[in-house]
Amino acid sequence: MQLIKRQSKVATQSKTKMFECPEVLGAKHSVPLLDGRYVPQIFLDNAASTKPFKVVSDFLQEIQPYYSNIHRGTGFDSHFCTERYEEARRIVGEFVGWDSDRDVVIPVRNTTEGMNLLANTINFEAGDRVLTTILEHHSSDLPWRSKAKVEHLPINSEGQIDLAELERRLDPTQGRVRVVTMTGASNITGSVLPIHEIAALAHKYGALMVVDGAQLLPHRKLKMRHHSDPSHIDFVVFSGHKMNCPTGVGAVVGRRDIFAAAAPYQTGGGTISTVTVNSVTWAAPPDRNEAGTPNILGLLALARTIQVLEAVGMDAIDNHERELTALLLEKLNRIPQVKVLGSSDPEAVDKRVGAVSFTVAGVPHGLVAAVLSCEWGIAVRNGTFCAQPLMKHLLKTDQDFVCGSKSDDGNADGAVRASLGIHNTEKDIETLVEAVANIAQKQWKGEYDQDADSGEYLPRGFRFDFSGLPGFSTEPVVNSPIPTLHYQQHLPLVTVAGIGALLTTLWACFG
Ligand code: PLP
Repeated sequence: MQLIKRQSKVATQSKTKMFECPEVLGAKHSVPLLDGRYVPQIFLDNAASTKPFKVVSDFLQEIQPYYSNIHRGTGFDSHFCTERYEEARRIVGEFVGWDSDRDVVIPVRNTTEGMNLLANTINFEAGDRVLTTILEHHSSDLPWRSKAKVEHLPINSEGQIDLAELERRLDPTQGRVRVVTMTGASNITGSVLPIHEIAALAHKYGALMVVDGAQLLPHRKLKMRHHSDPSHIDFVVFSGHKMNCPTGVGAVVGRRDIFAAAAPYQTGGGTISTVTVNSVTWAAPPDRNEAGTPNILGLLALARTIQVLEAVGMDAIDNHERELTALLLEKLNRIPQVKVLGSSDPEAVDKRVGAVSFTVAGVPHGLVAAVLSCEWGIAVRNGTFCAQPLMKHLLKTDQDFVCGSKSDDGNADGAVRASLGIHNTEKDIETLVEAVANIAQKQWKGEYDQDADSGEYLPRGFRFDFSGLPGFSTEPVVNSPIPTLHYQQHLPLVTVAGIGALLTTLWACFG
């Protein structure tokens, strides 16, 4: 694995240590600017999706010739892929500290699908409640709303919930709390919740604990802990594309008994043990919960990604990102027009990850993001980040946002988010802060128009030119070695057989 060595002062240690970052594909490739220059991109949109590890991309190339469907095939490749798939399942489970007897790993497309799977698997009774927080991403909030009464715990100015308030709400006299579901880390404020303390409270009152690990697992170690420990996590859900894995895959890891007690959320091939025209007996989990052909290469890639993260060390990644987050907060705090949403305390980076959202007074968030991209080559995100209740709370507005309209992306309320990944450096932070300081002074070169429909800001007379970049082609692909191989392999045999037959005939006629 190629490692890029970088100087990094590890926050928890006084001595300077090298942070060794595996190669991240495209992390620094050149992007065009408004003035015609090309600069290495500064990619700070990692909370949305990360760029893939090269070693994982190479691994996929190596394994693809062996691709075959799993579990039911008799061919060599099928046996091989089945073995690797089950090995990958174990690697994913171990990453989050599963108990292989009591938990299952169910591959899913992403966290959203995982949360829907759980909400449609856990049994609810009339009057049941689900406790969550105002911090949640829509994907971890909406799936529960049709199943139970969902209550959102408020947060304080540090982006944290009040555990005493949580315990009050767990009181069963108000109705049974079936599930406590919370984000491990917020995609907007970066707040990291004390999930094990929360789990201990949930279990004290007989509720299940679900953790949305989408923003936590790429950055910090999470272990579910043993089932006998009251602070254990019942289910954790996460997405590979947020942790440098190249394909659309994620996982739900959690209690086998809960999956075994419920009919599958999706039914079909692979989920059954017996089917007649009148009846079905479901297979045991995890098969029960993997309808149809799974994303086999995706799970393999996820497991390889996890191996890469673990080789670097989750603590080393965490320390590296804490240091960069502290630097970013410290520098943003010095720009008077900038307001960081949630905690902006560089000393409190133990309670947050490096998703840092901010507003710039007097400059619409969409314009800030456009100038960062078109004039500095910095990729960020702006808007309301699929967490509108939280944005309403943070921006202290009564306005309802409307996605894909000016109210979400334009002059109206919203924010800019810079989110750190494993490949980012101090230099990236310095350039971002320099750019934001300029923008705060209303210094930019282009003239920007706001698109009437999307609310997006676009520089007048400039569009990104994608020609010359990889794309689709209608050219016929002449690359089929199979017939050639066929002839090469069989021609000598055919020839020998033909000559043999001729000799036999001649012998019969003239011999
Ligand atoms: N939860 C959190 C905290 C997120 O940040 C996201 C995505 O940004 C999701 C859930 C949904 O993840 P996915 O889009 O991979 O389903």
